[in-house]
Amino acid sequence: MRLVFCGASREVTGSCYLLEAAGKKILIDCGLFQGSRFAEEKNFDPFPFAPGEIDALLVTHAHLDHVGRIPKLIKEGFRGSVYLTKGTRELARLVLEDAYQVMEYEHRKFSAPLLYDEADVVAATERFVGVDYHEALEIGAVEAVFKDAGHIFGASFIEVAAEGKRIGFSGDIGNVDVPILKDTERLGELDVLLCESTYGDRVHEGKETRRQIILDLLDEGYRRGGTIMVPAFSIERTQEFLYELHKLHEHESALPKFPIFLDSPLAIDATDVFKRFPEYYDREAAREISSGDDFLDFPQLRATYTREESKTINEAPNPKMVIAGAGMMNGGRILHHAIRYLPDPKSMLIIVGYQAEGTLGRRLYEGANFVQIFGERIPVRCAVKAIGALSAHGDQKKLLDWVGSGETVPKKVYCVHGEPHAATELAHRLRDRYALEAVIPEYGDTVEV
Ligand SMILES: [Zn+2]
Repeated sequence: MRLVFCGASREVTGSCYLLEAAGKKILIDCGLFQGSRFAEEKNFDPFPFAPGEIDALLVTHAHLDHVGRIPKLIKEGFRGSVYLTKGTRELARLVLEDAYQVMEYEHRKFSAPLLYDEADVVAATERFVGVDYHEALEIGAVEAVFKDAGHIFGASFIEVAAEGKRIGFSGDIGNVDVPILKDTERLGELDVLLCESTYGDRVHEGKETRRQIILDLLDEGYRRGGTIMVPAFSIERTQEFLYELHKLHEHESALPKFPIFLDSPLAIDATDVFKRFPEYYDREAAREISSGDDFLDFPQLRATYTREESKTINEAPNPKMVIAGAGMMNGGRILHHAIRYLPDPKSMLIIVGYQAEGTLGRRLYEGANFVQIFGERIPVRCAVKAIGALSAHGDQKKLLDWVGSGETVPKKVYCVHGEPHAATELAHRLRDRYALEAVIPEYGDTVEV
């Protein structure tokens, strides 16, 4: 078997790996590179393979950095099937349509180049083939199984067997004890594992403190009297955040009394998909939904779907809260709120997920006093806070435990999907704990398995 690293190597976005085995060429993920621009220049580079020669694409989950270049793959000649879990199939369609809307908007307003056309998005979704967790998928003599990664709704890690070898692709691995989702499954017996390392150098706050941290921040934001902005990762993080808010509202009546705007069509649509797939829920969420409790809805929550509805948020009196995409602030409606409220000392920005290098979210997280948005210089005078415990990614401890969760430990692990420091740190820890071979590949590296 031959493996080529075509993205997410020494960085967190652009996931894409090529596996050549038993006469087949199979891609695992085909994600967008994300940075200062919604669609980074790098996305326009040719693929390091011929798309027309790829037999099949396996997709771990619906995040844009794992699916965002599928329409480009189609545009450039890919004619195979795209295999993904049924939940991922629903969400990936929404994510690709939403991404196209953002690109098209930036194209119209700022002449940003389009990576692909709407027809390519439609053609991509027509190639989607939904599979179930644990269903044995055969592509010629290559076998693949999707297992629950506990990362976002429908997310999987994928184990592939061919030529007498077994190789695993982690996709993204979920945090511990996340609300709604099931826990990450144990790893099967593998020779080689590609393991994400987003938080390979960090440990999150404990889950028992998660709800308290949210409450403390909301109380502070309420007292400040401005607008609380939450850049939303529209899939999963938003629903988990709503779930926590619902809990605060319901059981402790602790939620400050301000309107909460869900200003993201993608998050609103994704929430509907969630409601259609209760079989993906963990026991607590399944019990709540079967008792008729809509845990993603409560009286203070207002969904603003259209641009016109979105604009009414500006007129709503403070204090208020706005949850809007994109999660790393590299596009989407959050930018309009940021222009308005970043300069306001009474307002607050709460960052709830990983911010990739080069993104606006990262610059704010690192304490920038000024930022550029749509060519405008915006002073940052609001409070900027971050919650690690709400991350959809497991931390270093979770990743280390997961690699050792199977009957045997993989002989070799490639640390991918992490910035160099995080990947290096995880590699060190893996060698120390399991005496395995840990490697940090570079873009374009080709290895024999
Ligand atoms: Zn992800």
